Amino acid sequence: MQGTPAALKYLQKSDFEKGLQGPPGLSASSGPEFQELIADINSISKSRISGLGKGDSHTEYDVILQPGHYLRPSGRTGTQGKYVSEQALVAFLTDKVAKKLRDSGESALVISADDYLRPTGKAGYFNGLHSKVFLAIHADGNRRPCTSGPSLAYQGQATALATNMIGLGLADAMGYNYKDFRANFTANEANYYMFGQVRSKRLTGLLEVGELTCEKSETDLIASSSQIGANVARAIDFIIRTPEAAVANSTRRHSSVTRHSAARSVM
Ligand SMILES: [Zn+2]
Repeated sequence: MQGTPAALKYLQKSDFEKGLQGPPGLSASSGPEFQELIADINSISKSRISGLGKGDSHTEYDVILQPGHYLRPSGRTGTQGKYVSEQALVAFLTDKVAKKLRDSGESALVISADDYLRPTGKAGYFNGLHSKVFLAIHADGNRRPCTSGPSLAYQGQATALATNMIGLGLADAMGYNYKDFRANFTANEANYYMFGQVRSKRLTGLLEVGELTCEKSETDLIASSSQIGANVARAIDFIIRTPEAAVANSTRRHSSVTRHSAARSVM
C-alpha cells in the first residue's frame, strides 16, 4: 500500500491480518450446506439476538452493534434478497460478532433500529449511549442489480486503523481485493440517522456488507457469514485493544474519494 498513514503501517506490522479468516470453500455456496445456512439465517428473525437491549447512559460499552432495520415492523424495513431478508442476514451477522466479542471479555450491546436510549439534548450534556465502537451493519438493495459494492461510512473522529481493520476483515472473509473496498470509505457526509444518537471514541460507523438484490453477492454474503462475523469481531477487538496513541491519525485523507454508495440515505 503506497503512501499509507502511520496507522496502516501499524496494522501491517501487527498480527491482525494473520488471524483473519479467508473465504469459505465452494461447498458453502451450494447444496445442503448452503440450504442449512439459509435456514439458520431465516430462523433468527423468530428469536431475539442475545444482548439486545435499550442500553443505559451510565455505561460505556466496548461496542454497540445495530443490525440494520432490526425489529422495525413497517416503513424502512430493509431490502429483500432471493434467499434472505436484509433484517435476517444482518441480525445473523451481528449476533456472530457480538458473541465473539463477549467471548473475548468485551461488553457488547445490541440495539434494534428504533428502540434504544435516545439522547434528550436536555441538561447541557450528552445523555445518550456511549461506547468505544458503534457499528451498524446493513446489506442494502439497488434498483439496478449488481451495481453497488460494500462500503464503510463513519463519523469524522474514526481512525485510519479502525476503518482499515473493518474493511480488511470484510474483504478477506469474502475473498475480494481490499483496494476496491478502500475506495468506498466515506467520512462525515454520510448521514446515517444513528450518527447523532450515540457517542463513540474510536469508531462510529455504518458498514454495508454488500448488495442483497444481486444473487451472486447475496450468495457470497450467506456463504461467508461465519467468516464475516469472525473477522468483523476481530477488527473491533483490535480497535478496542490498540492504544489510542497508535491510531491518532485521522482518515480525513480518504474523504474526497467516491461517496456514491454510502451517500444513499439509510434510515
Ligand atoms: Zn439497510
